[in-house]
Amino acid sequence: MAKYVKRQVAILGSTGSIGVNTLDVIRKNPERFNVVALTAGKQVDRLAEQCIEFQPAIAVVSEANGAARLEQLLLGKNIKTRVLHGPDALVTAVTDSDCDTVMAAIVGAAGLVPALAAAHAGKRVLLANKEALVMSGNLFMQAMKIGGGELLPIDSEHNAIFQCLPNDFTKAPHAHLGVEELWLTASGGPFRNTPLDQLASITPKQACAHPNWVMGRKISVDSATMMNKGLEVIEAFWLFGLPLEKIKVLIHPQSVVHSLVRYRDGSVLAQMGQPDMRTPIAYGLAWPERIEAGVAPLNLTQLANLNFSEPELARFPCLSLAFAAAKAGGTAPAVLNAANEVAVSAFLDAGLPYLEIPTVVEKVLNTIPVSNADSLELILAVDVEARKAAQDFIAALQ
Ligand code: NAD
Ligand code: MG
Repeated sequence: MAKYVKRQVAILGSTGSIGVNTLDVIRKNPERFNVVALTAGKQVDRLAEQCIEFQPAIAVVSEANGAARLEQLLLGKNIKTRVLHGPDALVTAVTDSDCDTVMAAIVGAAGLVPALAAAHAGKRVLLANKEALVMSGNLFMQAMKIGGGELLPIDSEHNAIFQCLPNDFTKAPHAHLGVEELWLTASGGPFRNTPLDQLASITPKQACAHPNWVMGRKISVDSATMMNKGLEVIEAFWLFGLPLEKIKVLIHPQSVVHSLVRYRDGSVLAQMGQPDMRTPIAYGLAWPERIEAGVAPLNLTQLANLNFSEPELARFPCLSLAFAAAKAGGTAPAVLNAANEVAVSAFLDAGLPYLEIPTVVEKVLNTIPVSNADSLELILAVDVEARKAAQDFIAALQ
């Protein structure tokens, strides 16, 4: 008899970079996992292939015509998958699929409501969708507590820190455990050394060409601006409960040390590995066990150097904006996130110049007053307001 319980997995955002990597790890460990729900936005063909291979109970796409097309593609394949569509169906995928584990890997604010539903329902939540936690950290952590499930970070830095903290870190104050600081590493993205006067002409293609990681387009741009690291500082604040001033950012261009924890006695624990998301995904899926992830072994002798330095704030204004929003608290991180999503999308698809991304975010942060982020309704209303303000600023620029 197997020593482990077979996990029933729902993947929100299964057609994206994290989703595809999650299915790859599951494919390598078929005796341990059943896929019971898969969801996508618009990539219906890829979702159809995944449904044929993994036969989930539920599949969800954003639009009604996408659902009709998916039904068509599954016709005659002898598959019992229920095809649903729309934002509410993402929640159904979590609550009605008999899953015990939810990979939250939708990009951006669109992933918040289903991720919260997973938290409330007491699932093991594998959190890749950092934007959900940035928007609603307090509510999300409360929902996890009420639901009684496990929250395991998939973001590589947070997964690294999770691996370097004592097992019972949620049960005792950090001071008792001797944890002094968390150090989040950042590659610095593709423009770490680009002369500042050349940043104005950066194209989406250049911004999406990350030196070490292959990722979705939005997070690739966030890595170039380092907004990603700013969002991750806020993510770490909520996940690990340390004061903001104890969460530091280090530029580490090789992306081998994924993050570190500094302890009172002088010890610094780091987690290392290839820049391959299948490692944190496998760790989250099987925790506390370790399973095959398909990741090549790290060969330290082939690494010439491991470098670390402080980030240049003048080069990365988005990082400073994120620090400011984190400090302001309340709804400020939700405003930061919404403005950034709109600005990044306008940069990728509507010709907004690269250097205007921080300008838009700053203007929106200065426009919308900070309030308490006590309810989902309030957070979603602020999200809408900030998006509208960002769109207005962008329209005025063009
Ligand atoms: P991606 O763009 O490759 O995939 C996003 C997924 O979400 C796709 O399946 C897409 O169909 C779905 N989606 C998008 N908009 C949607 C909507 N409105 N409704 C329903 N579904 C929608 O993104 P990704 O790189 O896989 O990133 C996913 C999340 O994981 C992000 O929050 C990102 O910050 C985080 N993350 C990614 C990586 C990485 O290596 N890619 C690393 C760390 C954290
Ligand atoms: Mg990360």
